[in-house]
Amino acid sequence: STALRVEGLTKRFAGVTANDDVDFDLRRGEIHCLFGENGAGKSTLSSCIFGFYRPDKGEILLRDQPVQIASPMDAIRHGIGMVHQHFVLVPEFTVLENIIVGTQRSGWRLNAAEARQKLRGICDGYGIDLDLDAYVWELPVGRQQWVEILKALYLDAQILILDEPTAVLTPGESKVLFDIVRKMCARGMSIILITHKLVEVMQSDRVTVLRKGRVVATLDTPATTPDELARLMVGRDVSFTVT
Ligand code: ADP
Ligand code: MG
Ligand code: MG
Repeated sequence: STALRVEGLTKRFAGVTANDDVDFDLRRGEIHCLFGENGAGKSTLSSCIFGFYRPDKGEILLRDQPVQIASPMDAIRHGIGMVHQHFVLVPEFTVLENIIVGTQRSGWRLNAAEARQKLRGICDGYGIDLDLDAYVWELPVGRQQWVEILKALYLDAQILILDEPTAVLTPGESKVLFDIVRKMCARGMSIILITHKLVEVMQSDRVTVLRKGRVVATLDTPATTPDELARLMVGRDVSFTVT
């Protein structure tokens, strides 16, 4: 079934149409990649879905109902979470403190003991290895990203947007991330994975390719090839010549 649908979404900035009549649908329990070159419009589309930007045209539907997502807080209330390329963390606070402070404005009212219990349950359930009492400044960046992901899970996100999540990860950390994201999908969460890396796209269920703000294709990933995706991304044949 469909978790989220975008119909005819257009978003312009001065001098540039960042998203041009974009159609996109996200199925329940899938990893759906947004793939495209730098500037293709991936972050703009996800920012519209997360309520950072108001589209100039088009609609966003959740469970087939049109919704107005006027702010990130609205998005959170609709069960959407987002992990940005740049983290919003306080290094001098612990993991637990960061999550409590970082989610307060969303209206979650758990005390520290309740928050700790809920987060323990989430970490144990997914096999996320993170010390809630560690100071964020002590953590490698790869682990800091888990604090951001935990914020979204703590707020009961059913749709999770990950913007270039492996940019800060080692290959080993990327594998752990994919394993845990797969567990989220198995529990009915839906993932929008923004990336420009082909190796990551190949691990997804479906991929929507954006080029210059437009959707050029939505494909079942197992039915496509890296060559085809590369060609769609740049709009012409690409030859990987081994010399
Ligand atoms: P991607 O995430 O695929 O790299 P973006 O969505 O960031 O692409 O950008 C799409 C286009 O919109 C680019 O041409 C970019 O320069 C432009 N753009 C993105 N955000 C803004 C903004 N806040 N103001 C003006 N132009 C923007
Ligand atoms: Mg960009
Ligand atoms: Mg981007």
